[in-house]
Amino acid sequence: MAYSQPFPLAQPPPKVQPPTYGPDLAVRLICPECRDPNPAIVEEFSSGDLVCGTCGLVLGDRVVDTRSEWRTFANDEGDDPSRVGAASDPLMEGMEQLDTTISFRDGGSGIARELQRAASRSQASRSERNLLQAFRDIASWCDQFSLPKTISDIAKQLYKRSDEEKLLRGKPLDAVIAACIFIACRQAHVPRTFREICNLTHVSKKVLGQCYKALEQAFNLTPGASATTDRHLTTPAAARGPEDLLVRYCNHLDLPPNVQPICSDIIIQARELGIADGRSPVSIAGGAIYFTCHLLGKVKSAKDISTVAGVSEGTIKLVYRLYYAEKEKLVKEEWVKEGKADLSRLPVDSFSK
Ligand SMILES: [Zn+2]
Repeated sequence: MAYSQPFPLAQPPPKVQPPTYGPDLAVRLICPECRDPNPAIVEEFSSGDLVCGTCGLVLGDRVVDTRSEWRTFANDEGDDPSRVGAASDPLMEGMEQLDTTISFRDGGSGIARELQRAASRSQASRSERNLLQAFRDIASWCDQFSLPKTISDIAKQLYKRSDEEKLLRGKPLDAVIAACIFIACRQAHVPRTFREICNLTHVSKKVLGQCYKALEQAFNLTPGASATTDRHLTTPAAARGPEDLLVRYCNHLDLPPNVQPICSDIIIQARELGIADGRSPVSIAGGAIYFTCHLLGKVKSAKDISTVAGVSEGTIKLVYRLYYAEKEKLVKEEWVKEGKADLSRLPVDSFSK
């Protein structure tokens, strides 16, 4: 990203004449066999040899093929892309992307270490190194969490923005990265809870919360702002609700596919009636799954749900009790008529408090 100079400089910077490089014209190649002052030396790219065109003597091997790897149609494509490099990465814009790696093998002379030290010093400035390190951390954490590349890319973008705009100066790098991954998951509609991110990154919930708050304000984030789907248009209040967590939890619990839509309906109905208002989305999701599996006769223990959702059994049962008290309003008649649901399957509210 190029920023224009906001104010003209008082003194224009002195122009440095770049040194010019060219071939040393004093060196002449001749064939030692024919000693022709005007040698016809041929580069045989197919075999990698340098051959005298007159007598056929091989003058050198391992010729580097300098021709391009593809045919160019310069008229169609504008610039002549006659050489290749790595694919360009918009996240690394303005950074040196080609680097040198120096081998460790130096036959015991110790020169490799010296060379490596010199190369690493010249390679990248400190801020670029930090950025690359952060990108590596984001990628590896997303891998550990089985998050796709789109999410790690969003997280990298967020990190780069926060780094450029110095939004989180002084915060630990881990926490900033964790907050970026958290936001990226939400933007991609696969939300993870604070607790899950904390468990993954070993960042304390408090610090993560602070970083998240700062980023949220800076980027003016609204849940799902990056991709507005119909569902979020019709029910803006439902965005980032417990329903978003259901798909994953139901999958992890190995529940049949019909459980999740019914559970989602129950949660929406409960929200409209103001049942379990103010509970966190995770506890509502946990309690609603517990309620729905019993209703549909696919019983899962509160302990299993607690492990998957990361909330205590007590919280799950608390939400369940609130739902149970209003069960007639929450369960649609058609479910009972179709034989899917049965209110008598619900365990009676007799949990010890
Ligand atoms: Zn010759």
